[in-house]
Amino acid sequence: MPFSLLPPRGAFAPWGGPAALMKVLDLQCAHGHLFEGWFASEDDFQGQLARGLVECPMCADTAITKRLSAPRLNRGAVAPAPAPEAAAPAKPGRQEVMIPPEAALQAAWMKAVAHVMAHTEDVGERFAEEARRIHYGEADERGIRGQASREETQALLEEGIAVLPLPVPPALKGPLQ
Ligand SMILES: [Zn+2]
Repeated sequence: MPFSLLPPRGAFAPWGGPAALMKVLDLQCAHGHLFEGWFASEDDFQGQLARGLVECPMCADTAITKRLSAPRLNRGAVAPAPAPEAAAPAKPGRQEVMIPPEAALQAAWMKAVAHVMAHTEDVGERFAEEARRIHYGEADERGIRGQASREETQALLEEGIAVLPLPVPPALKGPLQ
């Protein structure tokens, strides 16, 4: 996620959480472990897969394949019906996601992101540096947004700095990138 957000303390993610609008893929490692992967897009998945960044949460295997969707497996009378998704027990680490059923909801989400963007300072590539300055009291406390690498974001989280992904709809990105 190229954009990151450091919300003012006490703020929450009004658009429904960091994983909103992510693509969820059913994945399987070479040892047969089944898990879900979260990606910005199919291209994002393929890119991460090619770089060995997709790994099985159970055994860290990186030989990952996408599982066939249930309808494609369920051909012929002998195929057992797949268990209903809703009956699956909640797995640890799962996140709230959504597909807005109505244009109005999507508009509300866009409005929320626009609100966040209007009330945070864009510090661009200096995001990680500025987030630390704020965290350690060297700069005024305020909401900022900008770009951070996966590694930078991980390091910030380990330092106890509550950085959130900021999924910016293309329509709102403007001249940023
Ligand atoms: Zn595995």
